[in-house]
Amino acid sequence: MLKGGMLSRWKMWSPQYKILRNHLINFKSVSTYKNISGVNTKQPKSPRQFGCMPHVTKKRKYKYEEGKTYHGFQCERVEHISEFELTSYTFRYERTGTELWHIDRNDSNNVFSINFRTTPFDSTGLPHILEHLSLCGSQKYPVRDPFFKMLNRSVATFMNAMTGPDYTIYPFSTMNEIDFRNLQHIYLDAVFRPNLAYFDFLQEGWRLENKDIFDKQSKLVIKGVVYNEMKGAFSENAQVFSQNLLNNIFPDHTYRHVSGGNPLEIPKLAYNDLVEFHKKYYHPSNARIYSYGLFDASKTLALLDEEYLSDQSWVDNSYSLIRQQERWTQPRLVHISSRLDNMGTTIDRQNQIAIALLMCDATNIQESFELHVLSEVLIRGPNSPFYKNLIEPNFSGGYNQTTGYSSDTKDTTFVVGLQDLRVEDFKKCIEIFDKTIINSMNDGFDSQHVESVLHNLELSLKHQNPNFGNTLLFNSTALWNHDGDVVSNLRVSDMISGLRESISQNKKYFQEKIEKYFANNNHRLTLTMSPDEAYEDKFKQAELELVEQKVKLLDEVKIEKIYERGLILDSYQKAESNTDLLPCLTMNDVRDPPKWPKLFIQNVQNVRTQICKVPTNEITYFKCMFNITGLSHEETQLMPLFCNVISAMGTTNYNYREFDKHILLKTGGFDFKLHLIEDVRDSKSYSLSVMINTHALNNNVPEMFALCQELIKNVRFDDSERLKMLIENYISYISVGVASSGHLYAMLGATSQVCDAGKLKSLLYGVDHIDFMKNFVHSTSTVDICDKLSTIASKVFNKDNMRGAINTTQSYEPSAISNYEKFLESLPTFGKTQTSRNIHYLDPSCQQYVMNIPVNYCAKALFTVPYLHQDHPTLRVLAKLLSAKYLLPVIREKNGAYGAGAKISSDGIFSFYSYRDPNSTKTLNAFDETYKWLRANQNVIDQQSLFESKLGVLQQLDTPIAPGNIGIDYFLYEVSQEDFESYRSRMLSVTIDDLQCAIENYFGKESMHYGKCILGPVNANLELETSHKWIINN
Ligand SMILES: [Zn+2]
Repeated sequence: MLKGGMLSRWKMWSPQYKILRNHLINFKSVSTYKNISGVNTKQPKSPRQFGCMPHVTKKRKYKYEEGKTYHGFQCERVEHISEFELTSYTFRYERTGTELWHIDRNDSNNVFSINFRTTPFDSTGLPHILEHLSLCGSQKYPVRDPFFKMLNRSVATFMNAMTGPDYTIYPFSTMNEIDFRNLQHIYLDAVFRPNLAYFDFLQEGWRLENKDIFDKQSKLVIKGVVYNEMKGAFSENAQVFSQNLLNNIFPDHTYRHVSGGNPLEIPKLAYNDLVEFHKKYYHPSNARIYSYGLFDASKTLALLDEEYLSDQSWVDNSYSLIRQQERWTQPRLVHISSRLDNMGTTIDRQNQIAIALLMCDATNIQESFELHVLSEVLIRGPNSPFYKNLIEPNFSGGYNQTTGYSSDTKDTTFVVGLQDLRVEDFKKCIEIFDKTIINSMNDGFDSQHVESVLHNLELSLKHQNPNFGNTLLFNSTALWNHDGDVVSNLRVSDMISGLRESISQNKKYFQEKIEKYFANNNHRLTLTMSPDEAYEDKFKQAELELVEQKVKLLDEVKIEKIYERGLILDSYQKAESNTDLLPCLTMNDVRDPPKWPKLFIQNVQNVRTQICKVPTNEITYFKCMFNITGLSHEETQLMPLFCNVISAMGTTNYNYREFDKHILLKTGGFDFKLHLIEDVRDSKSYSLSVMINTHALNNNVPEMFALCQELIKNVRFDDSERLKMLIENYISYISVGVASSGHLYAMLGATSQVCDAGKLKSLLYGVDHIDFMKNFVHSTSTVDICDKLSTIASKVFNKDNMRGAINTTQSYEPSAISNYEKFLESLPTFGKTQTSRNIHYLDPSCQQYVMNIPVNYCAKALFTVPYLHQDHPTLRVLAKLLSAKYLLPVIREKNGAYGAGAKISSDGIFSFYSYRDPNSTKTLNAFDETYKWLRANQNVIDQQSLFESKLGVLQQLDTPIAPGNIGIDYFLYEVSQEDFESYRSRMLSVTIDDLQCAIENYFGKESMHYGKCILGPVNANLELETSHKWIINN
């Protein structure tokens, strides 16, 4: 929960430089939801094998040879890529031409994916609905929703399917080989031999149906999972804006359509068109298959050959090729309307603008890479020209999320966008854009600024990510889809040296690129968006007309048929299906706990310090945490802002531009985060801490510590103009995207009714924080805020309240420690202050945050027991069981929400939630009826469902973790490796009796401390429908 949507988005502009940023417009499948709900797994995580294989200098021996054929696959190309320690094998199936790309790497988190090039030719969402339908049952697995069922029968670290603007991909990853083979079977059967049943089309796509299926007289409405999903997606302005940007800059062919589906167009889709599309676009000749990791690839080749490909023949797949966009002779302007966002800024400032330019062909990888670097030089950080000219004059809420370089389409794009500005400032924005381009073209850039961008890129190559195989797939998918050279695209070091070479030979290298791609580019779109108070009514009206048109064509017989069909679909959904057909792991497959590298705890100058020696690829990771529980309430409330702005203000010795340059040249950036941590032993107290997180190449570690010291000792809060701008950008940023993580905000809102620590959390991370910030800024002068932040800085960085953690390579450890000691010597000491506060539990209450959106996010939270209590693992298993057996079937499948579930966090708060939910009180009632349902359906709790629920918990416990983060749970929560192992084994030994006991003890009567929360539209009948009093936040 601490990682709500508002924190992740900011990352785009934080020092974490991503090699190839993915901001494609994805319409994620149903299961994506699993992913969102999984973000807050505070529980200890397992390490993985960090394969820093020794460099092999003699001739490399490859597992497969170029030119040879294996199971019908010819091995066409083999290359070793040293910077990632991987070997790339490109195979082609001779009969069908299907390409299989295997990445052999000593990484236990193995990945498999099947990709198709699916180019929409309208906005009915056909590829997206097909993606859903493929996962609804196949020839070998004629089970309802095998995909969802497999979520509970596997220990996958990732399972999903996604529809992009021109592709559909089906990826999964797992560390367990039996699981890997099981999922391979399910996925391959799903895509090549799906049942595509008509009733699944009605359920997943769209259907006309009586509002109440048991009432023949009730009016006819449109229903369907994707239909609702897309209504929810387009309730977010950011989504509307980026979708329109894509559609309008590529107006000539496939990208002008909404691949996910426009809700008003979805009901034009006919079932047969979908079946035909599958035959053509899911043909093996139009497929690309990816595998990654250390599992034996020849087993994959054999499976494909024997079961899926040998009876197929080659077809020419040029029908799915994507043309280049024809260049415009003149720039274009497009204006669109949006929903009024009542969580956003004042209505006069709720406008957005983006200026977008078409760049080069994505398959020109060196050119595309260089344009990406150039884009970063232009927009990123306080030394970039766009930041200086466009952001610092402070007439907007900062860059919007479309900003950046994107290579997700056939032609790449460069976009600069602003959020929260006045209509009068559109013109100013365009003028500044033009002036910035001309000046950059004439004057070029400071070479140190370019160097800092390149340094960060090189550092990011060394920084190891536990989901490397998935990241590689996502970053390669678009290029691969256009038949680009994905293998050479991995040679990032070569591309960097190529660029350095070009720059050193031609001082005007970037300036010439600016002239060509920016100054003399007529393919330029200016998109503006403004709120329209009638937006929602207009949509409702259009939806109504759509239904009326459809109803007009019906006679009585047809209306009767629709009614009957609704009842048949209902019983189809309720029918038991034979899940025994699906593979499942057994207890023996998962019994071994993950292996941990040892943590060493020592006191360095009285500072408790945790050291972990792991292969980190020559990077040292440093974290330090200062307990700040002793701050006043007002100071505490300002901590999120403090963390957000501290590294952007400058210090006594460097102004903010110089400081930023040094940070980027030497480190991976400084990330400050506020943590509210409950005692996981008894949940009777909590503490507040601020954690600093940074990393650097080993040879830059002295500078990393020096910069950290400079920042915490000498930060300056005296530039009130700068702070004013940073605050306004911060408020815009936290106000955007509440709906996309609405379930997290709803759970925070519900938790805030349970105890005072929960209330504080909501004030620090929840909707209450947004309100607080808006009011605070309104009522306090910037100069006063400067003073307050300055006072906070003088109190927070107290050595007596500090702990440290270092993760580094074995050989560098002594140097890291000696630099750390120097750093510690310089820190001030003020004596220990208050380190924890007691938690007070509250009487039950309910609150709603009213939002101008057509869907709801509901939550109920109640207090049970914390992480180290013996019943916690049982409750965690129960939460999984409830999600799979009760909440998803009722709230999602029957009542039409996009997602629903239950979870328990380490503080002992047990939460229920729904996501993009057409209902509110009906859902809360379903939460309340949990006990009744469990009692009435005791047969659901059998050995199989118990085991599946345990696997669900294991997916969270055994998830891979990056070398820089090993030991983080001990650092934050003091959960030791032994605690974790005993938790894990207790969880695996939970019995049906344990579950029954927990159900009686924790759900048998209503909890003393619970809260409910709804994020959603006004509901005048709230109190009537729930028989509760509600606190309404408008
Ligand atoms: Zn979907």
